[in-house]
Amino acid sequence: MRIVCVGGGPAGFYFAISTKLRDPAHEVTVIERDPPGATYGWGVVYWDNLLDVFFRNDPASARDIRAQSTLWQEQRISVEGAGAAYLAGYGFSMQRAALLDILARRAIALGVRVEYRHEIDDLGPFADADLIVASDGANSRVRQAGGDLFGTSVTTGSNPYIWLGTDRFFDSFAFAFERTPAGWIWCHAYPSSAGLSTCIVECTRRTWEGLGFDERGDEDTLRELEKIFAEPLDGHALISQCRGRTARWQRFTEITNQRWYHDNVVLLGDAAHTTHFTLGSGTALAIVDAVMLAQILYDNNDDLTAALRSFDARGRMALHPVQAAARTSMAWFEQADRYLDRDAVSFAYAMAGRHGRQPPWRYQVHRATQVPAIRRALRGLHSGSRWCLARRRGEPAPSRAKPPVRAEPPARADR
Ligand SMILES: Cc1cc2nc3c(=O)[nH]c(=O)nc-3n(C[C@H](O)[C@H](O)[C@H](O)COP(=O)(O)OP(=O)(O)OC[C@H]3O[C@@H](n4cnc5c(N)ncnc54)[C@H](O)[C@@H]3O)c2cc1C
Repeated sequence: MRIVCVGGGPAGFYFAISTKLRDPAHEVTVIERDPPGATYGWGVVYWDNLLDVFFRNDPASARDIRAQSTLWQEQRISVEGAGAAYLAGYGFSMQRAALLDILARRAIALGVRVEYRHEIDDLGPFADADLIVASDGANSRVRQAGGDLFGTSVTTGSNPYIWLGTDRFFDSFAFAFERTPAGWIWCHAYPSSAGLSTCIVECTRRTWEGLGFDERGDEDTLRELEKIFAEPLDGHALISQCRGRTARWQRFTEITNQRWYHDNVVLLGDAAHTTHFTLGSGTALAIVDAVMLAQILYDNNDDLTAALRSFDARGRMALHPVQAAARTSMAWFEQADRYLDRDAVSFAYAMAGRHGRQPPWRYQVHRATQVPAIRRALRGLHSGSRWCLARRRGEPAPSRAKPPVRAEPPARADR
């Protein structure tokens, strides 16, 4: 089969890898508009369930992904003037650029042809392709070129956010809510790679305008945010430039599609669906889509129509609850001010319960997990279960895993 993937993000590369692993005879090309190593955004978080998928599907790239990831433990929620609270648990994070480097190298090693610096405007040149995968992200040109063939709807969230980096290293997932004369503003921060962290800043539109972010330049914006978040950043700098691109304020767009394919064109990852970043699941969903499509094609002996129909039905059904949870999460953060009149422990509890009602005993458990000795015990328990999961997946022992590559903070002039 001749397959063209438009877009070399996680969805496009991982589909190329997964389909080549199942049938090396496929002729697969990934076309990416950016040069190698250039991508938007900083780090992404993920959990054990994604590592399970990676190790089951392709242990070779999974080992590299795990080696380049950082483990973070607990979520720390601080509210200015009301202290800090903790939510138990752990996750992983890695730089988006490192993930894409690993996937691109693996795809090329498996015989995938990768064309960088090639922006696709029209599908005319691919008339002889058997399958065209639109893996070109949330603003997919391929999807848009189809007019209303996919039944696309686009909804824009109200909160402005900006995706930044910082040279402060966080070893937990930190939420810091700060009060300003114009209203509350908060950041979500987590490790990206050794020495650097991701820092997403968000606030309501009113606060954003009140702080003058609609009129400030890039440099002025950074300096103001550094002042506001001086305490959680511990005086460290914020970094705007990531691989040559300056971060800009944006608003989240939720993409849904009533159909994920038309003829021989199929939507994958963000081109098909987006989920609000407070759920931290977009990359995982793109990877799951990629594996699912590759497996369904293989199971259907390359009967394209049957395969795409099946992918469309199964993919959309699996996505439904995740997208609903993401919508609830986005709405909660758009109204976070409502909960900020309470102490940090109660606020953190409300935040953890944003997906639905919790039984009353949960609150007592939450209070108990604020006690340092109990937190230590829980961390020990999680280390044990993490060790078991890693063994089951066949992860290399930590001493043999390669340490994450230390990312170089850009020069001050670049921030
Ligand atoms: C602020 C923020 C934080 C996030 N944090 C997380 C997180 O913690 N965890 C998580 O799992 N997810 C997170 N996500 C979501 C995640 O980034 C996306 O869901 C994921 O990147 C989707 O992968 P994709 O391959 O479908 O699309 P993309 O990663 O967007 O890749 C699309 C690719 O297509 C290329 N392209 C676009 N148009 C063309 C064209 N015309 N021709 C050729 N190439 C083209 C682009 O250059 C890009 O490389 C976050 C998103 C945001 C906005």
